[in-house]
Amino acid sequence: MSARILIVEDEAALRKILAYNLRAANFEVLQAADAEEAELLVTEQPPDLVILDWMLPGMSGLEFCRRLRRRPATAELPVVMLTARAEETDRLRGLDMGADDYVTKPFSTAELIARIRAVLRRSRPGLVGDVLTFHDLRMDVAAHRVFRGQREVHLTPTEFRLLRYLLENPGRVFSRGQLLDRVWGSAAEVELRTVDATVRRLRRALNAAGEIDLVRTVRAEGYALDLPSATDRTTACPPPSTA
Ligand code: CA
Repeated sequence: MSARILIVEDEAALRKILAYNLRAANFEVLQAADAEEAELLVTEQPPDLVILDWMLPGMSGLEFCRRLRRRPATAELPVVMLTARAEETDRLRGLDMGADDYVTKPFSTAELIARIRAVLRRSRPGLVGDVLTFHDLRMDVAAHRVFRGQREVHLTPTEFRLLRYLLENPGRVFSRGQLLDRVWGSAAEVELRTVDATVRRLRRALNAAGEIDLVRTVRAEGYALDLPSATDRTTACPPPSTA
């Protein structure tokens, strides 16, 4: 059984690319160009998750999300918001409008699909199982095994927890302090450089010769599970406008 995803996006080109990539990832896909059309589909063919663009003609994505939350039938329907700019993301964080996650344009298909899987895992565990994926990386949480392509990757328990946390939040940059808190636990007597050392070991384990480095170091900020910017980032979305 595959999860049914409703894409609500007025940019036809982006909608088509998303639909294509989601189908390739084995999702069933519904498409709507505005909130009105989406409203009908939600009633007629209830989706398991909605990808909702913030900026829509007519009713905004934000208002549509609020509407979904107000109705008992859709109050629990998972929503991943697409936002165009950092300011929107900041506003979104501050608003309690009920989105389960958000992705800032431009985003990579791999990142969006990983987010969708993470949200579905929380809301509809039967549809995705206990497997976390990012690019060619796959973690079977229940079996405690990690694969990069066909190759099994062996990790220590701490490296496993760190990778799991990054896989649950792909594309997000975490400071060393945040990682310390969430992976080691705030009570742990560990120094920040322990985080660097663990990331270094994780990286060595994940990236065999010739494979692209999936762990991004953000200078003075921290770390993220991410693809190098030139390879995949532009496939899901046109480059950001400079206006
Ligand atoms: Ca739009």
